[in-house]
Amino acid sequence: MSNLERTPQKTEVSDPSGSSPPPLALAEPVRELLVGHEVALGGARAMTVTRTLPNRGRRMVGAWCFADAYGPTDLRENPGMRVPPHPHTALQTVSWLLAGEVLHRDSLGNQQLIRPGQLNLMTAGRGISHSEQTPLEHSPWLHGVQLWVALPEDDRRIEPQFEHHAELPVVSAGGVDVTVVMGELAGAISPARTYTPLVCADATFAANSATRLPLRPDFEYAVLALSGVVQVDGADPVDGRNGGDGGTAVELSPGPLLYLGAGRSELAVEATEPARLLLLGGEPFEERLVMWWNFVGRSHDDIVQAREDWQAGVGFGTVQGFDGDRLPAPAMPGTTLRPRGRER
Ligand code: MN
Repeated sequence: MSNLERTPQKTEVSDPSGSSPPPLALAEPVRELLVGHEVALGGARAMTVTRTLPNRGRRMVGAWCFADAYGPTDLRENPGMRVPPHPHTALQTVSWLLAGEVLHRDSLGNQQLIRPGQLNLMTAGRGISHSEQTPLEHSPWLHGVQLWVALPEDDRRIEPQFEHHAELPVVSAGGVDVTVVMGELAGAISPARTYTPLVCADATFAANSATRLPLRPDFEYAVLALSGVVQVDGADPVDGRNGGDGGTAVELSPGPLLYLGAGRSELAVEATEPARLLLLGGEPFEERLVMWWNFVGRSHDDIVQAREDWQAGVGFGTVQGFDGDRLPAPAMPGTTLRPRGRER
């Protein structure tokens, strides 16, 4: 790890509204371990997921506003995933698997199975609904992540779209294969459509492998171990230069999300045993959002309207082929939902 980016200029970002809260300081290189919480996906014997975004005090990483990891789940003992039709607004859902299969159906008429190494990307825009489930015939294990990307103001009401990418670019170095799921890394560009500058990459480590992931100082980043143990941000594995904290790496196992801040031009990562590490990053997302249930909006009224439309069967289409009822929206909370920034 280079020390060149250790003391970047702190840049104040002004609040365009001119009102409270105070301006945010652009994130610097940091190491914040964001512990997730367990969430049942719903239903009897439901699969649980570990949700690390949004997190207390750190709601977003770039435009990434939601991160669920699940498995590895033994489907000989667990029915797997069964998420009935439900709506989304103003976000993209990113489905990425390490093992197993997930069958996606949406209100545009798409029915698409994904397997490990493939990307299902649904752009909700003004509104879409979908179901996701373990197919009848499936592998014995299910393991994956679902991520959400917030759409910026100018694009949040676009027509809904769905993309399936069976092939994604892979860059390899030092026994580490990095699949670029979204955005660009090391010159490899994912074909997936993005609306703000961001990246998602999955690094697969062979035993005793090491690399330096090239980063953009204007992006903020976080990493999530998907399997195995990875040493992050330690002494440079290639030339031995000291890393971010006197050369001491953060040992990361599946569970928490390690937020790394901004101002970095690379990240040293290594593993002694086979491991997988997910890198999320992006330009800090300065718009304030209201996230409630499966909706992203800018105001309480946006959410109320989306909920009413879903309950009335308006604006989100119909998912064909799912064996069961759609999900009703929960009741609105008694308080007014307030837009929140990425850090609070
Ligand atoms: Mn969904």
